[in-house]
Amino acid sequence: MAETGAQNNPFEIAKKQIDIVAKVINLNDGIREILKAPKRELTVNFPVRMDSGEYRVFTGYRVQYNMARGPTKGGIRYHPQVTLDEVRALSAWMTWKCSVMNLPYGGAKGGVICDPKHMSKGELERLTRRFASEIAPIIGPEMDVPAPDVYTDSQTMAWIMDTYSMLKGYSVPGVVTGKPIAIGGSEGRGEATGRGCMYAIREAAKRQGLKTKGATVAVQGFGNAGSVVANLASKELGVKVVAVSDSRGGIMNTKDGLDIAKVEAHKQKTGQVEGFPGAQKISNEDLLKLDVDVLIPAALENQITSKNASLIKAKIVAEAANGPTTPEADEVLFKNHITVLPDILANAGGVTVSYFEWVQDLQGYFWTEKDVNERLESVMSASYRAVADSAEKYGVNNRTGAYAIAVERVANAIRLRGIYP
Ligand code: GLU
Repeated sequence: MAETGAQNNPFEIAKKQIDIVAKVINLNDGIREILKAPKRELTVNFPVRMDSGEYRVFTGYRVQYNMARGPTKGGIRYHPQVTLDEVRALSAWMTWKCSVMNLPYGGAKGGVICDPKHMSKGELERLTRRFASEIAPIIGPEMDVPAPDVYTDSQTMAWIMDTYSMLKGYSVPGVVTGKPIAIGGSEGRGEATGRGCMYAIREAAKRQGLKTKGATVAVQGFGNAGSVVANLASKELGVKVVAVSDSRGGIMNTKDGLDIAKVEAHKQKTGQVEGFPGAQKISNEDLLKLDVDVLIPAALENQITSKNASLIKAKIVAEAANGPTTPEADEVLFKNHITVLPDILANAGGVTVSYFEWVQDLQGYFWTEKDVNERLESVMSASYRAVADSAEKYGVNNRTGAYAIAVERVANAIRLRGIYP
């Protein structure tokens, strides 16, 4: 099936995914309409004083997609290509992610159109604080709780927490998650997305009788999620990571594999993975087509499409990124017996430990890293099994299996609460 530009619009894809599962679970048409519309959207245009002394106006969004199951939850991304439709899609995916993991949250997402790679730390701080104050009326521990996403991190969260706290007049650690530990962050949150993804891969490999020791892995994207899953999967599962990439390009070493700790040090020093000694160059596009056991897209949306899906050779595709695979590509992968661990499961370790962080903040009582990781492991394993069982029961791919659980839970909350007034 050909994909047009409109079909690759992430929000059109998010709505299509709801239509697909609606048929499988026989969802009431009215509820389906409710689930296809974001509840609340805020657009803000705000000035920031740049280092040059000039003012620049930036545009940012916060979309709260659905709050039937609790306060909304989801990250904030900084990227030049952020659009309202992308943020809508990401907020829908957060809704299903929190639901499939059975976290007591709805879904939200935020984004600011900016190019953080070309901004100073001072500019980023001023942008973050002003954006935080612009969205302050609709965030809060009981309402909507942001977190890091693409090109935002624990420092970004510290600035948001401080700005919100200044507006309130007292410290409110539970307004964001993914904070530094010194101000109410959780042990284990920094690596939670990658760690959760590693557990999902381990469980999927177990179910299909694939040995992880020595299994080959390629990772597209070397940020919050990709670098950690590459590292932990090598250390804890014994896989051989043969290729990694970032937005500038990729590297591979199919014979000996890559020493991920050394690649991380190289990236830290030079700002990119390319140029790593002893590795060959590979493009982001070619990396996806490598003959590996596990492929981990850990960058942005729409990487596996109808154009390249038939060329994917991996046995397992673990979506550390949000929305890397289009619905058309999903069909092709399913037909080719490739196991997809869908984003709302595979990268849900991040929001799961965000939930642990929020619980710790609200109680003012903090857990050890061992406690956090053990609880994460048990939630990931149980959710993986529930998703795989659901897919089997309905005879569908894992994404639709996961959506069946997630959408049904949100629909049930809506039915129980009823429609106001
Ligand atoms: N941005 C992450 C995600 O897409 C984490 C969200 C959160 O922790 O709230 O799942």
